[in-house]
Amino acid sequence: MTDTTLLGNGIVVTAHITPKSVEPQVILGGAVAWKGDRILRVGPEADLRREFPDAEFLDARGGLIVPGLINLHHHFYSALARGLDPKSPTQNFGEVLDRLWWRLDRALDPETVAISAELSAADCIRSGCTTVFDHHASPSAIAGSLDAIADAMEEAGLSAALSYEITDRNGHDQAVAGLEENLRFVLHRQRPRIRGLLGLHASFTLRDETMALAAERRQDGMGCHIHLAEDPIDVSASKEAFGLGPVERIHRFGLLDSQCLLAHGIHLTEEEYRTIAVHDAVIIHNPESNANNGVGHLNVVDTTAHGCLVGLGTDGMSSAVLRALRFAFLTHRGLMHDPSSGFEALPDLLASNARVARRFFNEPLLGELAPDAPADVIVLDAPPPTAIGTENTFAHLVYGASEAPVRHTIARGRVLLRDFAHTAIDTERLAARAREASPALWDRFHALPWGTSFLGN
Ligand SMILES: [Zn+2]
Repeated sequence: MTDTTLLGNGIVVTAHITPKSVEPQVILGGAVAWKGDRILRVGPEADLRREFPDAEFLDARGGLIVPGLINLHHHFYSALARGLDPKSPTQNFGEVLDRLWWRLDRALDPETVAISAELSAADCIRSGCTTVFDHHASPSAIAGSLDAIADAMEEAGLSAALSYEITDRNGHDQAVAGLEENLRFVLHRQRPRIRGLLGLHASFTLRDETMALAAERRQDGMGCHIHLAEDPIDVSASKEAFGLGPVERIHRFGLLDSQCLLAHGIHLTEEEYRTIAVHDAVIIHNPESNANNGVGHLNVVDTTAHGCLVGLGTDGMSSAVLRALRFAFLTHRGLMHDPSSGFEALPDLLASNARVARRFFNEPLLGELAPDAPADVIVLDAPPPTAIGTENTFAHLVYGASEAPVRHTIARGRVLLRDFAHTAIDTERLAARAREASPALWDRFHALPWGTSFLGN
């Protein structure tokens, strides 16, 4: 037995992705071989078996062998919100934030931050996601929170880009503490597969002095991850408090560049989209979350036509990137009242996620299956019932494979999920630990008042 693994008996579905092009590739009877954390070869299984006769064989059982998925916007901290009743009506997005999320984040302690991250890591693995961008908030436990999350990601075997959401809504000291947490984490990073970004909540909860301080202390090349125009309130409250819309504000503080991730970007003008495009910043579409909050829907086709790079995230709703893709596609058609639309820009979302992730991880082939690419590979348990080729892979994804369970998840050569079962995480025990910790968290939540002012007092 060698230390090479050969994943075969499946159909390889991948693409060669450059900043400007996507060349899809489908190999029937295909296989992927890797050694350590690198892919050695991708091609017909017969060829790879000849080349690596002693490799350990992993059976895809007729499924689709695709690159590990990338999620550009997640909130691990929401993992223990499932089933939580805020016991107060929420009639608009501002109230959803104030009465649910801004109480949950304040109720988190170091233990529940860690459990939330571990639950999310297990979920990512089960959903085939091997690279994830998280946007974290735990105002009562800021210092060290990113390390706790990084520990969970590293232990789970995933690649992650982490950031703490700086905001003024809990006062200036906590805004500064959030900034310090981001900077400390970025500067002391000693983990090869973990990155740090400057996290900012959203324009409407950030004072000018906080934005200026964050911009001033941001390190060269340090990315920035911020919510943008998720709801019209970000636009109206920013204009009311600062006389500027959120895009203009982010730009004025020098944060709008190719390392800038803008989650949502729904309620913007054509001119604002063009400003984002000119600065090569990234808009991240989170369709399921937008529907859940009733905040509107990003028109990916129009936004792309304005020149923006648009990627895909889940915004804490789940870790299932392919389900979000399917939802994005179906919702687009529904809103356009057009059964022929959606094939223009939506198939590019996954490739865009690869392009964006490559800006942060020093991996030029991240997100594709090719020699020398990181060995991030998954198998979707979706043996295609009809012909599949480069011309119809997106249809196979949105109408079938996106709903199929993930059979295997391999991240940097490590098999994390084998035949639908976690290899390293005891999910039953983890869930029991979470259920034990959540009543106290929920009690703290219910004891907290709502009525937070956007910019603090
Ligand atoms: Zn978000």
